[in-house]
Order: sequence, then C-alpha cells, then structure tokens
Amino acid sequence: MSQDRLRHYRDRRDFRRSPEPTGSGGRKVSSRPIFVIQKHAASQLHYDFRLELDGALMSWAVPKGPSLDPRERRLAVRTEDHPMDYADFEGVIPQQEYGGGTVMVWDAGTWKNRSRDNDDRPVSASRALKAGKLQVELWGRKLRGGWALIRTDSQDSGQEKWLLIKQKDEHADARRKPTSSQPDSVLTERSLKDIAADDDSGDSGN
Ligand code: MN
Repeated sequence: MSQDRLRHYRDRRDFRRSPEPTGSGGRKVSSRPIFVIQKHAASQLHYDFRLELDGALMSWAVPKGPSLDPRERRLAVRTEDHPMDYADFEGVIPQQEYGGGTVMVWDAGTWKNRSRDNDDRPVSASRALKAGKLQVELWGRKLRGGWALIRTDSQDSGQEKWLLIKQKDEHADARRKPTSSQPDSVLTERSLKDIAADDDSGDSGN
C-alpha cells in the first residue's frame, strides 16, 4: 500500500540527480507517529508540514509557515505523500530538479490524532482526512498543542487547499513568531546558509 502511495513522489524525482531519499529503505517503526516541518528554500520559501500516517508522510506546503496565533489561517497546499525516511532529510536539491533548493528540518516530534466528527465523537485520522477536518496535537521542539487542518472548497490544478490553524490552548501565542525567532534546524542547529555552504564544500558523494 505505502509503495503505491509513493508513486507520485518517485515520478517527480530523478534520484541520480537529487540527494533526496528514494523511500525504498526499510522504514523505521515509531511507537508514536512522527511529524516533521521542513523549511524549503525552493523558488519560493515555504514550510512542508508532514504527518506520519500508515507508513508514509502526509504532506502540505505552507507558504507562510505555521502561526501560533489562532486568528491566523495559514494556507496549506496538499502535496504528494513522502517516504518515512524523508523526515531526516536535510540538504540541497539541485536547482534544475523538482523542488530545487535547500531543505532544513525546522521542527520535529510526535503527534496524536484529536479529530472529532460533527457530533463531537472521536474519529480516526484517515476518516478525518477524507472529511477534510483533521485535528492534531503536536509535541515538537518548537510547536506544541492543538492544531487544525481544514480543507477549503477551492482547488488549483487539482491541488487541495487546506488551512493550518493553531487551536486555542496554553501553547497559542499571538506575539511569538517561531518562524523568525527560531529559524534554524532542530536536527543540526544549522541555518539554511550553513546547509547550503556545507553542501558546496563537501564532495557530492553520488
Ligand atoms: Mn517543499
């Protein structure tokens, strides 16, 4: 099943040219599902929000990144599922390749499904995803607490548009802006510049 889910991921990439994981390696088994947010300096800087579900990473591209202010609704465009080993990927995709640019692991941790249906009964993450209303709790290094992903009606060239919204709880904060106050990698503490420079100085190895 998860092999099939990665078809779009593989179709878009040339792994002889991109250092990104192929997803063919054995995936690590996590006792709690993981989430990762990758800061991606492609043609337009964005944040890729990824949640582990059934052996792959569901993904959304968030142009402005997450906001801790519950009044802010951040556009999140659904993108192709990514392989589990993408969660640790940090490096530089060559400019002429799909998604060319520097990738950083901006936040990482675990998540829990908190979705409820219209009658306020708990529902599975996959059902919530289909219904277009997913509620999650995040335990990351930078992001914590409740978040909602809500699908909107509008579509652009088949891409689903969702909204990423911080839920009101003790982790909500209208003033703190982690995208600017905590810009660096939680994996290596490197900045985007550092990652790009390290990629230039090392031999490419592939
Ligand atoms: Mn991206």
